[in-house]
Amino acid sequence: MKICIFWHRRDLRIHDNAGLAAALASGLPVVPLFIYDSDILDCLPDKADARLTFIYDEVERLARQTQAAGGTFLARYGKPVKVLEQLVKEFDVAAVHTNEDYEPYATRRDGEVGEMLGRHSVDFYLYKDQVIFAKNEIMTKSGTVPKVFGAYHKAYLDRLTDDMLLPYGSADAFTKTNLAALAADKAGPRPTLESMGFVRKEQYVPTADLPAEAVVRNYHKTRNTPALQNGSTRISVQLRFGTLSVRQVVRQARALNPKLLAEISWRDFFMMLLWHFPFTATEAYDPKMRHIPYRNNEKEFRAWCEGRTGYPLVDAGMRELNATGYLPNRVRIATAGFLVKHLFIDWRWGEKYFADKLLDYELANNVGNWQWMAGTGAVAAPWFRVYSPQSQLEKVDPELEYVKRWVPELGTPAYPAPIFEHKFARERAVEAIRTARNAAS
Ligand SMILES: Cc1cc2nc3c(=O)[nH]c(=O)nc-3n(C[C@H](O)[C@H](O)[C@H](O)COP(=O)(O)OP(=O)(O)OC[C@H]3O[C@@H](n4cnc5c(N)ncnc54)[C@H](O)[C@@H]3O)c2cc1C
Repeated sequence: MKICIFWHRRDLRIHDNAGLAAALASGLPVVPLFIYDSDILDCLPDKADARLTFIYDEVERLARQTQAAGGTFLARYGKPVKVLEQLVKEFDVAAVHTNEDYEPYATRRDGEVGEMLGRHSVDFYLYKDQVIFAKNEIMTKSGTVPKVFGAYHKAYLDRLTDDMLLPYGSADAFTKTNLAALAADKAGPRPTLESMGFVRKEQYVPTADLPAEAVVRNYHKTRNTPALQNGSTRISVQLRFGTLSVRQVVRQARALNPKLLAEISWRDFFMMLLWHFPFTATEAYDPKMRHIPYRNNEKEFRAWCEGRTGYPLVDAGMRELNATGYLPNRVRIATAGFLVKHLFIDWRWGEKYFADKLLDYELANNVGNWQWMAGTGAVAAPWFRVYSPQSQLEKVDPELEYVKRWVPELGTPAYPAPIFEHKFARERAVEAIRTARNAAS
């Protein structure tokens, strides 16, 4: 039987899935596939990783849904190019369909996969699914990459139409007629967490439903109050793994809250920037910011990681991150700003720590925001801006409700004194950056 494969990656859903809809409409029976990428899993430092557990559960859910619809779901562990090559040898595969991924590793991998499939005369189709505008769909009037968010967002709003947000009909077409049923011995067993060398770790993730209407309507008033459990939408994990469709989310935000729509478009913006400038995953965009003499003190870094800096908002944030894998945006700003300016530690150390801990960790958003905070990015806060952690606390948590939740010993002798005085640390960082920038130019 001639089949086509739909390869799920960051789109762990059947509904409103661009690539899946195209595969189901192609006229060939579809076999959905997920590959646990050994190149990525080998880099996970912790064998109890809540993100892998989340992915595993979602893949198993997709497998059950596929089976219930009369099809066969394949799951494999290994290097994607090798797994796919093996599959095209085992089955009569005419085409592989998948959704685009804009990260440097993913674009390289997809290039190799495309070449390999070409050698076997198998077609490879990629679709835009995880963003509204990708790659160079929004450019400046002079044809350059937009680096001012305000102008980008204006173009985003001008170009956004109802049609772009229509759901793809993948769920309706997900039927026995369009799916391939393979013999059980041909499909093979699906990997388990244990067979991949991992153990189960569950952390709370809000469900894949759209956020409640009241949360969305109030978003601009509540988003900067970390004490509120529903101050923001909490959709980041679902967007990261594609259990929610970005079109669904944008439709709701567009109808109810322009501020939320603007925040969601930062996601497209950062993915677009990383696609154009893949080197920024590990290097400052701004050449003048590439040789900053960061202090990189290991002991102070550990104090930051463990929430022992003596600055309550920073400490509460790091403890929340360590305990839950989540951090409200305002507290991400406070903790990141403190690391790169007050402790004067390389933003890449913080980016890596967040990457290990955040359930919603996403390369483009994490790097984009860290480079913003450090003043090094294609879009960046002014390098001389240093937020006072104390003033931020007074602004966002005046009753200390949030910080007391995570730092119960606050106000007792058990709580450490501030690691550095704010004014001293600010002047130290600003002077060192100024000197390095002058030397670079
Ligand atoms: C230092 C730092 C690191 C960050 N790392 C990540 C990360 O790894 N993954 C991640 O998804 N977000 C990251 N963010 C952005 C933002 O903090 C989170 O998306 C947000 O807190 C998630 O909670 P929410 O879903 O309730 O967001 P809401 O405020 O309800 O926003 C809705 C959605 O819009 C998008 N969004 C909102 N703010 C931003 C932003 N500043 N940049 C990009 N997208 C945004 C997200 O997809 C988010 O889920 C980071 C921010 C900072 C300052």
